[in-house]
Amino acid sequence: MKQYPQALTIAGTDSGGGAGIQADIKTMQACHVFSTNVVVAVTAQNTLDVQKAFALPTDMVDAQFASIYEDFDIKAAKTGMLADAEHVACVVQNIKKYHIQPLIVDPVMVAKGGTRLLSKDAIDSVIHDLIPLATIVTPNLPEAEAITNMTIKNHEDTRTAAKKIASMGAKNVIIKGGHQDSDIISDYVLLSDGTDFWMASPKVDTIRTHGTGDTLSSAIASALAKGDTIPSAIRFGKSFIETIIQQDIIVGHGHGPLNHWK
Ligand code: PLP
Repeated sequence: MKQYPQALTIAGTDSGGGAGIQADIKTMQACHVFSTNVVVAVTAQNTLDVQKAFALPTDMVDAQFASIYEDFDIKAAKTGMLADAEHVACVVQNIKKYHIQPLIVDPVMVAKGGTRLLSKDAIDSVIHDLIPLATIVTPNLPEAEAITNMTIKNHEDTRTAAKKIASMGAKNVIIKGGHQDSDIISDYVLLSDGTDFWMASPKVDTIRTHGTGDTLSSAIASALAKGDTIPSAIRFGKSFIETIIQQDIIVGHGHGPLNHWK
């Protein structure tokens, strides 16, 4: 009997249910992919802010990888919140140990409310140890700036930043334009064969965007788990976000979560 497609998210939880592992599970479920999870950190969080975060002991992170790879047939994985350099190193070790590919690296750094989800000193570990293992890296503009140590002001700068990230060892790069102050959101994609394209969409006027980045990387991971090609999985991820961002649900008093039912 053919196995149901299975994927893995390696990330932090959100008690408010909108971002992190909760967004990943909901996205994969909506994409008809079974979601397994390595919890790296737990956050006390709602739509207003992250109130507290706690990274699990690394032997507990190791144990989750062991449990998953003893049993499941994981076809694609993604990383999200990794907390600090010690946890980046732990996750990198496990990615190598279990030959985890294809791998989407969402280099989550700071929550919308301003709380750091990755310590500053861990950015070097992400660059040197994690990005070289990535099939696709999906930074937003501030993350791309932090990774490349550049200021990105226009499309030309975006292209230069993507090339720089590719030269760090990432096979494919998406620089997400959601933080642009513009009516059109343009995401830039640089593929491993050197071809590139822009994915443009009208900016949706909503504050309910919590967990958008997690959702995009999970939708791409889901498409890859089902056997899509990389360009097709990337376009699917973008269209998934475009659809669900327009179907508001109102919960909480701040940056509300997405509604993952298409
Ligand atoms: N909390 C966790 C655990 C996350 O992984 C993320 C995003 O990756 C966030 C919060 C931030 O979500 P947002 O910036 O969309 O509010």
